[in-house]
Amino acid sequence: MHDDLGIETVRAGDEAFESAVVDGVFNAMVAEGRPSSVVRPRSEDEVVQAVRDAVGAGQKIAVRSGGHSWVASSVRDGGVLIDLGELDGIAVDSERMVATIGPGVRGKVLSAALESQGLAFPVGHCGDPGVGGFLLGGGLGVNWGAWLPSCFSIRSLRVVTAEGGLLTASADENSELFWLARGSGPGFPGVVTSFEVALRPEPAAVRVSTWQYPLDELAAVTRWVTEASTRLSPNVEVSLVTQGEGRPGGTAEHPLVVGVAATVVLDHDATGSTQDALAAFGDGAPGLVPIDRRAGDARLSELHVPVDATYPEGARYLADTFWTHLTLDEALAPLEALMATAPSGKSYVLSGMPANGGGAGLLPVGEAAYGLHDTTVLIVYVIWDDPADDAANRAWLDEVAAALLPTATGHVLSEADLREHPERVARSFREEDWPRIQQLIARFDPGGVFHGFPSA
Ligand SMILES: Cc1cc2nc3c(=O)[nH]c(=O)nc-3n(C[C@H](O)[C@H](O)[C@H](O)COP(=O)(O)OP(=O)(O)OC[C@H]3O[C@@H](n4cnc5c(N)ncnc54)[C@H](O)[C@@H]3O)c2cc1C
Repeated sequence: MHDDLGIETVRAGDEAFESAVVDGVFNAMVAEGRPSSVVRPRSEDEVVQAVRDAVGAGQKIAVRSGGHSWVASSVRDGGVLIDLGELDGIAVDSERMVATIGPGVRGKVLSAALESQGLAFPVGHCGDPGVGGFLLGGGLGVNWGAWLPSCFSIRSLRVVTAEGGLLTASADENSELFWLARGSGPGFPGVVTSFEVALRPEPAAVRVSTWQYPLDELAAVTRWVTEASTRLSPNVEVSLVTQGEGRPGGTAEHPLVVGVAATVVLDHDATGSTQDALAAFGDGAPGLVPIDRRAGDARLSELHVPVDATYPEGARYLADTFWTHLTLDEALAPLEALMATAPSGKSYVLSGMPANGGGAGLLPVGEAAYGLHDTTVLIVYVIWDDPADDAANRAWLDEVAAALLPTATGHVLSEADLREHPERVARSFREEDWPRIQQLIARFDPGGVFHGFPSA
């Protein structure tokens, strides 16, 4: 259905309503509250109109771009859901090395479009999230140790405000809104209709090297990775995955596995080889025989493929994150025992030391709302299928969180368990930035038009 001005609108009670609300959400586990309507603008003008209509009707607004919020923050109780999935244009200006992209563009589509022109952008590790939520939340993208979280590549954005006005925000214009947009994620008090982002030349080479070891060798493997990391440059991104019984990589003899993946991205003007960049890993963890060992060249636009496979479609998910001062070997120690008790073998914990230990000093201080990093990040993904198993999987996440919280120094807003733990919102920012974030949200949305940060 279309409203009087032609904006596609689906209302509570319409046959298509439930699917308009939940089909675009990646997580099959969606909280119970529902909006009263879903609108799907196809242009910036229609977004302006949709916001004005909602404000005029005294309705609150929730926003969706790619629907990949783990806590389904676009699905709120009451008000209008503005679904920006159709705003998925990509316009490349290769002379200025920028692209103007709609919030509904998926990372993998952007990456492929740029690569066909010899260009690159730090899209997310997974191909499917929309750039809208990904960039507003900070954006932990490919090669983030060298290229920084992706929000630092935003040059400007177009925003429909809580009053239904349209403005541009950049370092020179509406700079406080620009500061807020780079990190405030679901708390952002406006609707972004497009981003102008800085591009890079396609890298000269990309290589991925992986090792899988039995999980009972976790201590030796993390020691090896932590030690090697001191000799890696920031363009080598290392991630560790402690994985359960149901995931690929394990064997009948060793169903629980720790996987190590090192990805090196050589910039177009870099010297040396990808093999040189990975030399610190030697022949693998000293004295251990890997269950599986692979290495191969790739293009940047292909990196999402194996990552996407770890997030099955249609599954139920809980996610949570923890930053810590600890190095990988210290931080991961509790996981050997915890992985063995996971009710679902699909669940896993992803961890890494951004910039190979230099993560705490990686971000430009105070430049954006996204400002909290530490030495090591752990991201817990609980993945299962049957709603009857919800309580058991929630209990396991609670157990993992209880083990990691005592040494946690903060969270990653985009992947934290925000509905269950709303206090994680404040702890996703630098302590000194949180009051400013709250003040700016109140200034740009004094009437509370936007639903804001999700809570229970
Ligand atoms: C499978 C999977 C893999 C992921 N991998 C990564 C990763 O590698 N790196 C990483 O950093 N994150 C990752 N994430 C987290 C993801 O980036 C965030 O959840 C992000 O919010 C998703 O963006 P979206 O537009 O798809 O989500 P949505 O659910 O559409 O949006 C989330 C919220 O952001 C706000 N928002 C979105 N678009 C706009 C807009 N245009 N204007 C105003 N507000 C808006 C709204 O409040 C909205 O409710 C992953 C998530 C999933 C499910």
